[in-house]
Amino acid sequence: MTVSSFHPPSRVLMGPGPSDIHSRVLQALGRPVIGHLDPEFIMMMDEIKGLLHYAFQTTNQMTLPISAPGSAGMECAFVNLVEPGDNVIVCVNGVFGGRMVENVERCGATAIKVVDDWGTPIDLNKLEDALKANPGVKAVAFVHAETSTGVQSDAAAISALAQKFDALTIMDAVTSLAGTPVLVDEWKIDACYSGTQKCLSCVPGLSPVTFSERALETIRGRNHKVQSWFLDLNLIMGYWSSEGATRSYHHTAPVNTLYALHESLVMLKEEGLENAWKRHAKNHLALKAGLEALGLTLLVEEGYRLPQLNAVKIPGGVDEALVRRRMLADFGIEIGAGLGALAGKVWRIGLMGQSSSPRHVTLVLSALEGTLTDMGANTGNGGAAQAAQKVLLA
Ligand SMILES: *Cc1c(COP(=O)(O)O)cnc(C)c1O
Repeated sequence: MTVSSFHPPSRVLMGPGPSDIHSRVLQALGRPVIGHLDPEFIMMMDEIKGLLHYAFQTTNQMTLPISAPGSAGMECAFVNLVEPGDNVIVCVNGVFGGRMVENVERCGATAIKVVDDWGTPIDLNKLEDALKANPGVKAVAFVHAETSTGVQSDAAAISALAQKFDALTIMDAVTSLAGTPVLVDEWKIDACYSGTQKCLSCVPGLSPVTFSERALETIRGRNHKVQSWFLDLNLIMGYWSSEGATRSYHHTAPVNTLYALHESLVMLKEEGLENAWKRHAKNHLALKAGLEALGLTLLVEEGYRLPQLNAVKIPGGVDEALVRRRMLADFGIEIGAGLGALAGKVWRIGLMGQSSSPRHVTLVLSALEGTLTDMGANTGNGGAAQAAQKVLLA
């Protein structure tokens, strides 16, 4: 068998990530490699830090992209802040909260779980009860935007509760960053991590993180070495430090991926965060109008819905996997399946970053209506794309 170059098919990415990427970002990826200690590269790294300050709405000095995907950002937050013997409250209302529990336990600490149903936000009363019942917890960890269910929790209120009980906050903003407000300083979040392939519409493989001064004090005061050499912030900071002259080799930075992140952050700055949030909100409302025309409903109650991740209940009698396969084969559109407890119960339609546009909304609705009609399913009143356009053109 001869193996030749790989050419990916043309796709429209409307699942839970990765999202579609602008040609400007892909072009940045193809620029020549330079040394990762080259003074010109270091200047670009400083610009990335500045742009991440803007994206996270923070002045935290320790703000940088980890050279690995969102899961590594998650691990970075836990391994640096959590030590053997600590107690950490973890709010679990979907897949990613469950992964946080794993991280806490692998740090040799105890995870105290505050569990809510999949599809509902984190219950503040339950969290307060857990804080009262467990004096001295080191941190409260939670997922701001649960990609597995499409739920957004009230980060400001969760963080205020954690402050009241003198606990650090660890927030997963992988899906929220650049899609809905993430206000790290205003909410007093101590550790926050994200990913590049969701609302930032960059290639997968980097995890922007930010740590508060209080988090850094905690890290400096550790009794045990951070068990991960690669993710030890004390060492990473030697490379990403603010004084360019003293930068030392830690690992070889993914040079071209960082060009791409730089470009996607420049694009975010050009659009403006608030405009990006508004765009995500409007396209979500248009999608919702179209889905309703087809008699379809969203899993999550109004008020907690993520505009960038829409969990749609599967109507009775429909082969949900066949719908996804046909959307991909007939229209080149990728939508997501349900995960874990929601497997087979929902589709997850992502409107993230560049995939949050009137074009994407119109396309996915029209393709979904066509597919369901062809499969003999009930499509309500029909006219999904037109219903969405009423919202889009209003
Ligand atoms: C996607 C995602 C992650 C993991 O990011 P990867 O880049 O896939 O490692 C973590 N948390 C949430 C909420 C996510 O949506």
